[in-house]
This record gives sequence, C-alpha cells and structure tokens, in this order.
Amino acid sequence: MLKDELLLEIDKFRAEIYPDRCCFCFTPIDYKTEICPSCRKTVKIISGIRCMSCGMSKNDCDCKGKSNFYSGITAPYIYDGVVRDGIIRWKYRENIHALPFFAKETAKCIHESFSSVKFDAVTFIPQTAAEEKEKGINQSEILAQEVGKYLKIPTVKLIEKIFETSRQHNLPMHMRSGNVFGAFGCPAYESVKGKTILLIDDIKTSGNTLNECAKVLQLNDASEVYCAVIAIARSNKRKKK
Ligand SMILES: [Zn+2]
Ligand SMILES: [Zn+2]
Repeated sequence: MLKDELLLEIDKFRAEIYPDRCCFCFTPIDYKTEICPSCRKTVKIISGIRCMSCGMSKNDCDCKGKSNFYSGITAPYIYDGVVRDGIIRWKYRENIHALPFFAKETAKCIHESFSSVKFDAVTFIPQTAAEEKEKGINQSEILAQEVGKYLKIPTVKLIEKIFETSRQHNLPMHMRSGNVFGAFGCPAYESVKGKTILLIDDIKTSGNTLNECAKVLQLNDASEVYCAVIAIARSNKRKKK
C-alpha cells in the first residue's frame, strides 16, 4: 500500500471513531463533506450581483448605496438560521473545526467579488487587552489569519482598540455608531499608507464597527479598504417584511 493510501485509510478510521461534524448544525456527517444535506438545503447563500455598500444581493439590498469608508464588502452567507447557529457555536468554541470551512468560503467570495483588486494586507477588528484576556481569543483575528492563508496575503495587525465599548448586539441600532465612534486607532502609519487592505470580521450586523475601522485606515492614508465577513445580517427593515 502506498504511503498516501495508508494515510487516507488512517484518516477514514479516525473519522469513524471521531466522525466529522456539520460546520453549521454539528451533527455527524460523512467523511470530509463539511456540511450535512439538511443544512446544504436550508443555508441562505448571497448570490448574484451584490451591493458593494451592504454586501447583499441587489434584490435584498435596502441600504440605497449608503456611502462608507470601505470600497466594498462581501460574504458567502446571510446571517440567519443554520448559519447563525453555526457561527454562534464556533464563537463559543463548540465547533472549532468549522474555521477552515468558514475561511475557505469567505476567501472564495473575496476572490469572486474583488477579483481585480490586489491586496497588500489582511487585517481584522481588534479587541482591547482586557477584552482579549476575558475572551482568551479574538475570533476576527483567527479568521483573518486563515483567510490570509487561503489568499496568500499576509495578515497583519494594523488597528488597535483604544477603549472598551458595549457589545454592539446589546444596543439598539441607533446607538451602535456612537458606541464605536473613536474607539480605534492605527499605531503603524507606514504599514497602512498607500496600501490596499482587506478587513475581516466574522459577521456584519449594523456595519458600524467595520466602517469605523475602515475610517481609521483611511485617516491613515490607506489607498483602499475592502471588507469581508462570513455572514451578513438582514437589516431590521428587511426582517419585518
Ligand atoms: Zn447541518
Ligand atoms: Zn445595499
């Protein structure tokens, strides 16, 4: 038996003892299939031509092309149903194995949406030292590192968080922009000046945090900033429809 075949057999044997699990719903799945047939049917994919301002497909956009400090945003999924459950599980580290799948799907989207853009660096939404100590991990950072690996672009910490903020999802929409206003800084001007930067986070809800970080990069003379996330939440207006 060739070495590669032997490794494959060992891998399959391991999968029988510790089966692969669906990256969204965590049920055991067939070897290396990543998501289960049920999630494959119900997952809400963002498809077709996208609005560069909110990242939704043109049919789902109701931002009316609102201007932002970033030039475009993309994501593979709508933040709803099994996708929301899967990302929450990943955040609480129940399914840490989902990271390569989320990163791969996000990287594919970046490749499709920004095919003509040449990025100099990938960066992420930072936390304060206290927040990092409390959580023990920065999900935005580990996702950015994994996306950077897929795209073969260096992941660099370009933004710092100056003060702690309330959690955005605990606040009503009208308070979210003020909550993050002025919360971020850019310690390395020379690393940002003239650069085209890809800013990564796990999800976009109001988009205020991404926009505030893009603003800081622009204030430090970035050439352009683009954003990518795993999933985008529908606006409240859309949810009510
Ligand atoms: Zn599933
Ligand atoms: Zn839009």
